Amino acid sequence: MQKIWAARAETPLPNSMKLPNGAEQPRLDEAQGAGGWPHAATQHARRRAGLDYELKDKVILVTGGASGLGEAVAIKAASQGARIAIVDLNAEAAEALSQRIGGARGYGANVATYEDMERTCRNIVNDFGRLDGAVNNAGIPGDWATVVECSKENWERVIGVNLTGVFNSLKAELPHILDAGGGSIVNMASVSGLLAQPQASAYIAAKHGVVGLTKATAIDFGRRGVRCNAVCPSYVRTPMTAVLDEAVFRGMEQNHPIGRLATAEEVADVAVFLLSPRSGGMTGSVHLVDGGIAAEFKA
Ligand code: NAD
Repeated sequence: MQKIWAARAETPLPNSMKLPNGAEQPRLDEAQGAGGWPHAATQHARRRAGLDYELKDKVILVTGGASGLGEAVAIKAASQGARIAIVDLNAEAAEALSQRIGGARGYGANVATYEDMERTCRNIVNDFGRLDGAVNNAGIPGDWATVVECSKENWERVIGVNLTGVFNSLKAELPHILDAGGGSIVNMASVSGLLAQPQASAYIAAKHGVVGLTKATAIDFGRRGVRCNAVCPSYVRTPMTAVLDEAVFRGMEQNHPIGRLATAEEVADVAVFLLSPRSGGMTGSVHLVDGGIAAEFKA
């Protein structure tokens, strides 16, 4: 079997046409068509065509895109050809990052307010002409507290941004993504969306909710061309976690089976893969980027 794939990969590519610069461009539609060309040949065709961008011309919105994981996703997605709308409570930081990323724009909005997200999505479609995907990443840690210690204000704030914020974002984004003929959405959950940690009741509840909302969205919109998946990082060094002591980081690094924490870029890699057509067979799925921490049972 392997030999057959290898032989197909070596087979000259189908009919080609000229690129504007005169170079040969293979017919990607034929290369990827019913003949079932193997992945290696498709990639070869893409490289020859100079189209090795997984998100070429896709308009992607990133909430909380002005810092940390959102910033890493915005930069990575742009490097794959996407046109990025950075949506953040911090409008100035969103604007500043958009200046550093070719073709990007910054928008100030609070994900906890539906009207903000609805207006922002309309503005993005006015500015870019369409919306093909989103990374719903904006989030806050809130106060460390058990259910008994957690104030109503902290509960409402954490649920408001981390869970209702994802609901508001999905509700505002989906009509535009459906108008574009479908697309891909990635929700930034957490290991805390699958496992509990002491004294983080509101955050744990919100992130478990994000995992559930991801699955609900996947099954409700899959047949209409929209995929929705979740990414679950463990601790990552970002401005959100910068308040932790270096000694705490070193302890956490030892606890993770890979001997370190995953980086923001590694989380962004997974998010961009889930946005891209390479993950076309995946929806409603939940992806740990956790250095193996959730694999270990500690009694
Ligand atoms: P960060 O603080 O570096 O960035 C968060 C961004 O979200 C900021 O730019 C902030 O202005 C924006 N934001 C906050 N509230 C907002 C609101 N109401 N509306 C719009 N934007 C808002 O944080 P980060 O570490 O990059 O975290 C990003 C996401 O990843 C969060 O959802 C977080 O829960 C999740 N996460 C982070 C870690 C980690 O260790 N850093 C681990 C797991 C999951």
